[in-house]
Amino acid sequence: MITEMQKTKSQILIELEEKYGAHNYHPIPVVLERGEGVFVWDVDGKKYYDFLSAYSAVNQGHCHPKITKTLIEQSQKLALTSRAFHNNVLGEYEKFITGLFGYDKVLPMNTGAEGVETALKLARKWGYEKKGVAENNAKIIVCEGNFHGRTISIISMSTDSESKGNFGPYTPGYLTIPYNNSVALAELLKDKNVVGFLVEPIQGEAGVVVPDEGYLRTCFEMCKAANVLFIADEIQTGIARTGKMLACEHEDVKPDILILGKALSGGMYPVSAVLANDEIMLCIKPGQHGSTYGGNPVGCKVAITALNVVLEENLAQNSAELGKLLMNELKSIKSDLITEVRGKGLFVAMVIKEKKGKTALDVCLKMAENGLLAKPTHGDIIRFAPPLIITKEQLLDCVSIIKKTLAEFN
Ligand SMILES: *Cc1c(COP(=O)(O)O)cnc(C)c1O
Repeated sequence: MITEMQKTKSQILIELEEKYGAHNYHPIPVVLERGEGVFVWDVDGKKYYDFLSAYSAVNQGHCHPKITKTLIEQSQKLALTSRAFHNNVLGEYEKFITGLFGYDKVLPMNTGAEGVETALKLARKWGYEKKGVAENNAKIIVCEGNFHGRTISIISMSTDSESKGNFGPYTPGYLTIPYNNSVALAELLKDKNVVGFLVEPIQGEAGVVVPDEGYLRTCFEMCKAANVLFIADEIQTGIARTGKMLACEHEDVKPDILILGKALSGGMYPVSAVLANDEIMLCIKPGQHGSTYGGNPVGCKVAITALNVVLEENLAQNSAELGKLLMNELKSIKSDLITEVRGKGLFVAMVIKEKKGKTALDVCLKMAENGLLAKPTHGDIIRFAPPLIITKEQLLDCVSIIKKTLAEFN
C-alpha cells in the first residue's frame, strides 16, 4: 500500500482536485507550478516544453515580463470600477484595439464564451433593427464540428454530443451546415431571416481543421451579397497563432464582427473583445448588454501590453516561419502511427492511428515523460501549439522529443 509519505507531491495535489473539485476536465496528470517563456515546471521540479499554450492563450509565452509588470502596476493603482463610472484606461484601450484591427468600435468582455454570446446578441439585434427581420425570427448559421464555448446558447449550436448532451432545452435560432462547404452556405443564405454566419477560420477544438483555400473568401462574399453578417470566432486562431495577426487575413477577409479572447491578454487575465463598425455595434444601447468586469483597467492595460508584445516581437512572422519548419519536420517523420499532419503557422495537428491499443493519449503521456506537454483532442488528434516566442533551436529540440517518443511505439 502506498502511504501518504510515499506519494509524490503531484499525486497528492491531483487527489485534492479529484476530491474537492468538479469533475468537468480530464487533464494530463502533471501538476505545474511555474512557467517562463516556452517552459513550465511541475511541483516535482521536472521541466517541460508547453505545446498547448493554454489553448493558444499564452502565445506571448508564460509570464512574459512586460505583461506581468503591467498587471502588477495597474492592479496597484486601480483594478475595477465597473462601467457605472468611467476609468482612465478604457478609452485608451478602445482607441488602440480598434485602430489595430480597423474597426469603429469594440465591446469589451472577459471570457471567450462571453465574446461569442455578445456577437450573437449583436447579430440578432442588427437583424431586427437594420435588416428588418420580424421579431424572434432571426437565424444564425453555424458549422458542424464548431467550438465556441460552453454557455447554454453556445452549446445549443454544438454538434458534439459530449458538450451538448442532457443540457437542454436548447436555444433555438441556429442552422447547421458542414464546415468547409460554401455550397451548403449558399443554399441557407436564401432564407431572408438569416442574420449571421458564425465561423472559425480554422476549427481548433475539432482538431485544427483547415478549410480549403478560398473557403473563407467565398463565404464572406456570399454573406455580403445576402446582407448577412460574417462573424469570425478568432479566439483561438487570432493574435498571430496561424502566422498572421488574424487567420482571416490569409484570405483578405475582414469580418463584420470579430471575436477575440485567449491571447488577447497573453494568458494573464480573462479578456475578450468583440469588434464591429458603428452600423452594427451601435444597435446595442446603454443597459442592453454588459459585464461587471468587462473593460476593467487591469484587463485593458494587460491587453494593450499583450498586443504590443505580439507586434514588437514579430510573433506573426515567427509563427509563419517556424510553423513551416514544424510541419515539414513532422511530415518527414516515418511512423505508421501518423496518418496526417496539417495546420497553419504554429497551429498544427498530427492525426494518430491507434496501434495495439495505444492511442493519441498514450503518445501524449509518453511525450510528457520525455519533457513535452500536448493534449489529444477527439481521441486521435494531437494539437501542437507552442508559445509563439519559441526559437528555431527550441523547436528543433521539440521535434527530436516528438520523434524519439514516436520511435518508442515502433
Ligand atoms: C476557447 C474558445 C472559446 C471559448 O473561450 P473561453 O474563454 O473558454 O470561454 C470560443 N471559441 C473558440 C474558437 C475557442 O477556441
